[in-house]
This record gives sequence, structure tokens and C-alpha cells, in this order.
Amino acid sequence: MSKTKSDRNVFVVDRELYSGLIRLHVLHHAVEEPIFGLGMIEELARHGYRISPGSLYPILHGLEKKGYLRSKEIRNGKSLRKVYRATAAGRIALVLAKSKVGELFRELVEGK
Ligand SMILES: [Zn+2]
Repeated sequence: MSKTKSDRNVFVVDRELYSGLIRLHVLHHAVEEPIFGLGMIEELARHGYRISPGSLYPILHGLEKKGYLRSKEIRNGKSLRKVYRATAAGRIALVLAKSKVGELFRELVEGK
């Protein structure tokens, strides 16, 4: 197997493994404040998730399609920036997810 191919496989596996965590992380920030793609990419990088715009935008669109986020275009100088906020359904989904994450955390990290 070539190096390039195995590197790509590792990336694909990681994205699959962490995709739910990335979605919850996005939802968490969208509940707190308006978010936009590049800002969210930087925030995720701060937490050790390297994600490209080509991977993040489908996640944002998917969350919007499910009704968890709502987008709006805001003028930023000469360009338009698409910002996202959590909807009421998104807030409820996050509250429910918090108990699931807490449950998993207790088992994974605290061994309970
Ligand atoms: Zn964060």
C-alpha cells in the first residue's frame, strides 16, 4: 500500500469516528453565538480537529437541512458571509446530546 493511500485511509476513518463529535461541537457554538465556516474551522483546529471547508460546509448544510441550524447572509465589507445560529430544535437536540455525551464520558474516561 502506498503511503498516500494509507494516509488517506487514516483520515477517512478519523472523520467517520469523530463526525458526531464535530457536529455536536458545531451545534454547541451555534447555540452560544452566530458561527461561520472559517471561524468554525479555526475553532475545531484549536481542539485538534483538522477539517477542510469541503468537509465542514456539508456538515453545516446537513445540520440546516435537519432544522438544527438556520443560516443568514451578512455583509462583511464587500463580501457576504453566511452565518448560522441554532434553532429551537437545535437547542433541544443539544440538551439531549449532552446527557448522552456525559454518559459516554463517564464510561470512557471515568470507567463507570
Ligand atoms: Zn469549541
